[in-house]
Amino acid sequence: MIDPFGREISYLRVSVTDRCDFRCTYCMAENMTFLPKKDVLSLEELEAVTAAFIRKGVRKVRLTGGEPLVRKGIMSLINNLGLYLQSGELDELTLTTNGSQLSKYANGLKAAGVKRINVSLDTLDPHKFKEITRWGNLDKVLEGLDAAQKAGLKVKINTVAVRGVNDMELDEMVRWAGQRDMDITFIETMPMGEIDELRSDRFLSLEEVKEKLSQSWTLTSTDYKTGGPADYVDVAESGTKIGFITPLSHNFCESCNRVRLTCTGMLYMCLGQNDNADMKKIIRSENGLEKLDQAIEEAISRKPKGHDFVIDREHDSTPAVGRHMSVTGG
Ligand code: SAM
Ligand code: SF4
Repeated sequence: MIDPFGREISYLRVSVTDRCDFRCTYCMAENMTFLPKKDVLSLEELEAVTAAFIRKGVRKVRLTGGEPLVRKGIMSLINNLGLYLQSGELDELTLTTNGSQLSKYANGLKAAGVKRINVSLDTLDPHKFKEITRWGNLDKVLEGLDAAQKAGLKVKINTVAVRGVNDMELDEMVRWAGQRDMDITFIETMPMGEIDELRSDRFLSLEEVKEKLSQSWTLTSTDYKTGGPADYVDVAESGTKIGFITPLSHNFCESCNRVRLTCTGMLYMCLGQNDNADMKKIIRSENGLEKLDQAIEEAISRKPKGHDFVIDREHDSTPAVGRHMSVTGG
């Protein structure tokens, strides 16, 4: 599938639930209202829409959320999608998780054909972890990481850089990740959905972070890519990599190869724009399955050129998009 700007769309991210067992301050308000069950696609519907994308040429699928591993029965979807790896129709099946359920699922993921996962972790300080995630428990996440590595899953850490919260700790996180043979990717906060604090107070440019890190580490640019938006540098001292996802300080839309399906079946052609295509309506209509391919093609023909994220005081009360990251899936 080629979009109007000549970009090949080969990557689908699927948010399998908007629910989560954490309430990260930059992602959700503490008091979130979640979607009623009837509005959420069943696991079978999620699989049918994903399968249609695979037929249309998607080679990489990432499950996300909300927290994908809190969706009841999630392993049945993962196992079924794993069959597309076996048949060679899919190159990669992966997920982004907060790690809280990994002790339980790591072996199952590996058995389904998942090779690498992203685990989001913003701090190694238990108190700060509690402050950021509100409901999370760092020990449980660390146990999950151990289980994942023991199961043979390659782990990449995702860390949102938040001014005044973890900026003083990023160096330590690079060291820790390197010691565990994990790459680490830093992410700038994006203005998505209303939260309980001002985003402009928390935004930290990764230009600044990179500059600071280069005082302690020997960083060399590399053209390594994982199919996602991160730019990587090699860390000579650890032999691992640091990724930087900079939607604000550097726009990366020219190379965008992905679209996102929410758990309600809305297809977003861009994380930072509101235009969407309703796959639920299609799949739940008469002969819906047969109409999916055409609906996907039509949606891709509307993929916009890029996002218009800005974070400043003027925009604090009006985020670029009203939906939270947990809806579209990070
Ligand atoms: N619950 C899973 C997790 O935390 O990994 C998957 C979903 S979460 C929405 C995916 C990623 O988005 C996480 O790495 C999270 O830190 C990041 N994220 C959430 N809200 C964000 C925001 N406003 N700006 C930047 N990254 C955000
Ligand atoms: Fe949950 Fe992930 Fe959002 Fe944190 S970032 S609240 S873990 S969905």
